Amino acid sequence: MVTTRFAPSPTGRLHVGNIRTALHNWLLAKKQGGRFLLRIDDTDAERSREEYVEAIRADLVWLGLEPDGEERQSARFGHYEAGFAALREAGRIYPCYETAQELELKRKVLLGRGLPPIYDRAALALGEAERAEKEAAGIAPHWRFRLDHDAAIEWDDGIRGPQHFNPAQMSDPVVRRADGSWLYMLPSALDDIEMGVTDVLRGEDHVSNTALQIQMFEAMGAKPPRFAHEALLTGSEGKLSKRLGSLGVADLREAGIEPEALVALLARLGTSLPVEPIAEREVIVESFDLSTFGRAPARFDEAELHRLNAQIVHRLPFARVSHLLPQGMGEAAWEAIRPNLTHINEAADWWRIITGPVEAPAFDEETRAYLTAAADTLAGDGWGEDPWHALTGALKTTTGRKGKALFLPLRQALTGMDHGPDMAQVLPLIGRHEALARLRAAAR
Ligand code: GLU
Repeated sequence: MVTTRFAPSPTGRLHVGNIRTALHNWLLAKKQGGRFLLRIDDTDAERSREEYVEAIRADLVWLGLEPDGEERQSARFGHYEAGFAALREAGRIYPCYETAQELELKRKVLLGRGLPPIYDRAALALGEAERAEKEAAGIAPHWRFRLDHDAAIEWDDGIRGPQHFNPAQMSDPVVRRADGSWLYMLPSALDDIEMGVTDVLRGEDHVSNTALQIQMFEAMGAKPPRFAHEALLTGSEGKLSKRLGSLGVADLREAGIEPEALVALLARLGTSLPVEPIAEREVIVESFDLSTFGRAPARFDEAELHRLNAQIVHRLPFARVSHLLPQGMGEAAWEAIRPNLTHINEAADWWRIITGPVEAPAFDEETRAYLTAAADTLAGDGWGEDPWHALTGALKTTTGRKGKALFLPLRQALTGMDHGPDMAQVLPLIGRHEALARLRAAAR
């Protein structure tokens, strides 16, 4: 069974970039009838906050990306100890005693000679006695994973195609700090094994981590998962903007963005598929395909999101939005008003126009006479299936008016507005009694 995971650190709210990663992992799993797991990467107790864990869960629910399971790294320290001990036993993890300054100096020397700043494995060469000496001097070691220089690192990336890394050109990564705390790499690989993750889909900033982790999977006796790395998201101006890095569900929701719009945009941004106002999740799932992903950065444009939102709002059925609408606003009103909205929260403004009171403009004498004729027609003709067309049809014959002269004063008198939803749908919602009152008031 295909299993994907989304692994945020709860050090802040989700932003558009990691919402996109979550969505793609959810889609990858659902497309194949698989599982989508949430892994809370909270090994850093200092920076992790419970409120962010809750916010991440709530944001995923709002987006319709409920996980099929959840793990927390802070509850798995025992597993990391065990994995660490086994790798140490196998000679794949070794203690190092260099200070940050010493390491920095080594780097500078190599760079100064025009060489890549690869860790020289000096600590690997230390003998038992030298190590004991360091420890006796009170130096606690940090720990590195020993790469196997003879095993070329290769994988067929789901987006980037065949990848090849030479481990001899990479530094043995530090996996644990001197204070015993964990760096992200080893716990993540171990979690992926124990959670049965089959597919890791993440940003291309993780490509070199993947190279290192592939050897960790192998050292732990596991087959590495499939990997795919997507191009990063940039702002419309082409660089990773501050705004994008903080723009999250709360802001978008506040701005009237519907989850369907965000999902429709982020599912296809950076792919060869067209961004379309698709409100049906099944259609998004069905069309999701890693082979459509491009290598160029995906550009996120807030204006495009709002345009897409409007198109999606025009399609949303009443049942999906009823809880977001003003008290008393029913399906017919939603269908009448929907085409005029960019955001659902604007529905309240139009609903007030239907329920009244409205303020019509001051009309000239001739128009007032016309509105009196309209009121008389409405009073006399009854109120059929389609009162608007009956009314305007009759007025056209009796007054000779047509086009704007026929329609606009009626709209203004009935709604107080020059534009708005289709009057044929609005008039029945206003109702006969109220419509008559509004026409008479405007004609006075
Ligand atoms: N917590 C890591 C991050 O947010 C997870 C990366 C991964 O998907 O492995 O970068």
